[in-house]
Amino acid sequence: MNFKLVIDGRLVEGASSLDVIDPASGKRFATCARADGVQLEQAIAAAKRSFPVWAALSHAQRKEYLDRLCEMVELRKEEFAVLLTREQGKPLAQARAEIGSAIARLRYFAALDMPVTVLRENDDEKIIEHRTPLGVVAAITPWNFPFSLLINKLGPALSAGNTMVAKPAPTTPLTTLLLGAIAAEVLPRGVFNVIVDANELGAKLTSHPDIAKIGFTGSTSTGKLVMQSAAGSLKRVTLELGGNDAAIILDDADIKSVAKSVFAAAMLNAGQVCLAAKRVYVPRGMYHAFCEELAQLANNAVVGDGSEHGTEIGPLQNQQQFEKVLALIETTKKDGRILAGGKALDRPGFFIAPTIVCDLSDGAELVREEQFGPVIPVLAYDTVDEAIARANDTVYGLGGTIWTTNYARGAEVAMRLDTGTVWVNKHLDLPSDIPFGGAKQSGIGRENGIDALKEVTQGKIVNISKTAVSH
Ligand code: NAD
Repeated sequence: MNFKLVIDGRLVEGASSLDVIDPASGKRFATCARADGVQLEQAIAAAKRSFPVWAALSHAQRKEYLDRLCEMVELRKEEFAVLLTREQGKPLAQARAEIGSAIARLRYFAALDMPVTVLRENDDEKIIEHRTPLGVVAAITPWNFPFSLLINKLGPALSAGNTMVAKPAPTTPLTTLLLGAIAAEVLPRGVFNVIVDANELGAKLTSHPDIAKIGFTGSTSTGKLVMQSAAGSLKRVTLELGGNDAAIILDDADIKSVAKSVFAAAMLNAGQVCLAAKRVYVPRGMYHAFCEELAQLANNAVVGDGSEHGTEIGPLQNQQQFEKVLALIETTKKDGRILAGGKALDRPGFFIAPTIVCDLSDGAELVREEQFGPVIPVLAYDTVDEAIARANDTVYGLGGTIWTTNYARGAEVAMRLDTGTVWVNKHLDLPSDIPFGGAKQSGIGRENGIDALKEVTQGKIVNISKTAVSH
């Protein structure tokens, strides 16, 4: 398949092209169109032209279009899943889950309407709040969940009457382009446009005066650039950024079952999850047994090509991330003890053995920074107060987990973690109707739920006197 840009309802060749690498082999498996600045301008202009027409439709009419888009994606969901595994690396079962849950989320947002609220009404006056769409929304997505993170932005934005220019990460553009090709058949021209770059068009997109709002998911450092860039025309921003989530094991937890859950929470998508468990705090008396349990899980995990049956952990998504995580492991070897893994697999592709590290100090790079790979530091603690203080001692505040047999105690501890979400005895549960987002430098704003619709609309107050003005 020839993957083209989507501009103004048409599939167009790029000004140049981009190789797409299969992370399981390290080799090119597809080529796609790459936009230049002129094509970016064309995409923004198309979205701007289509905005008044799309916004003027009733919500029910937009829902009909979006439901049709869901149906068309549903018909091709296996093709999407296979493509996602190929470009991203994750095991096929996880790719199927990502596509399936994204379709369900798109249906949820297609049906979700912002109510018109009468704020006050009496004999003299009526004050109403409407929520109106903002205009052209830019959706900028990373390479770890390229499809679902796009749908998190597309669903609320289009449902509320905005139009969109999407820019996927350069290493995972294909599922976004496939969605764009389907949208070009289903949606009115210009409502959904896709451009692909090699990391050079972001600043132009985020500073463009015709972009009203930026929905960005990516690293904290790029998020700061986006915010600076948006300031020029006071664009609205939703920033879903990096995390360094703590998993805190309480002293009443069952070691074996919790180790299994924490391992899964840390290793999903080869650890490339913003909300992965990235630091594990264990009571000192349970520390040795817990580390051993994690090491055994790591040694038994099936690491391989995501398209092969039985694979549990796939490769890192791209060479740069692969090299970054290997370098982090080398640094870690100097001041910690590697209990399992600790190296790349001896095969082509970007594979790293799941790695368990113990006996690190809190100042170690693996503890302080987001690893975004299959490497978990396990740290011992003496009191819950101390564990919470150490868990909160970070600029990040995305999520966290508490593991205990006493969920009421877990809920109390959860309130003391300074993050946007805390799960107790579960992890990565992200229902479409529950808002999600970061505290501190993990982000601004929320995705999912009615909050997501608020992020792509603005309040408009109509304040009416019922008393006729007479002269
Ligand atoms: P990244 O910040 O490098 O890139 C994200 C996107 O931004 C890509 O599309 C990239 O092309 C684009 N970009 C690059 N420079 C830009 C610029 N100057 N202006 C505008 N856009 C620009 O992130 P990544 O490495 O692709 O993704 C991994 C990061 O994303 C991790 O930190 C992870 O925690 C975070 N993440 C957060 C969430 C969340 O919901 N909070 C979810 C997934 C990933």
